[in-house]
Amino acid sequence: MKSKLLHEAEGQRTFALVFETGEDVVPALRDFAARHGLHASHLTAIGAFSEAVLGYFDWQTKAYMRIPVGEQVEVLSLAGNIVPKDGKPELHAHVVVGKRDGTAHGGHLLEAHVRPTLEVIVVESPAHLRRTPDERSGLALIDLGVPDERHRREEAPPQR
Ligand code: ZN
Repeated sequence: MKSKLLHEAEGQRTFALVFETGEDVVPALRDFAARHGLHASHLTAIGAFSEAVLGYFDWQTKAYMRIPVGEQVEVLSLAGNIVPKDGKPELHAHVVVGKRDGTAHGGHLLEAHVRPTLEVIVVESPAHLRRTPDERSGLALIDLGVPDERHRREEAPPQR
């Protein structure tokens, strides 16, 4: 994987990453984030995979069902974020892939191998996005540090 710093302003960096055939996307992105000490960042990408495993979050079991995609696919859209958690970068990305017949499959990005290329733009976020464990879902979710608007409405006096 090759990377280049495209832009830096007020401590926020933008990188372009270019992956080559055979590279394992998820660990490579985590390694990149660790090496460059990335703050909370978001990323987008297009390219192609030789194979991938997508995930579907099962609400009942609170675990990802694995959806193997065992063929060459286009990466139509990949979007996600990298957030430091307990000093380690955590990647959360979703991807839509296109098959030979034009059908699309999508899900949480669990595993993917590049062929022939994947171009990723990584942008550090202006404010550090805080991520805290959410007990209801079992996921680490972004904590905006503001009250839930639904609760605010419930607490407001009834309209007459
Ligand atoms: Zn997800």
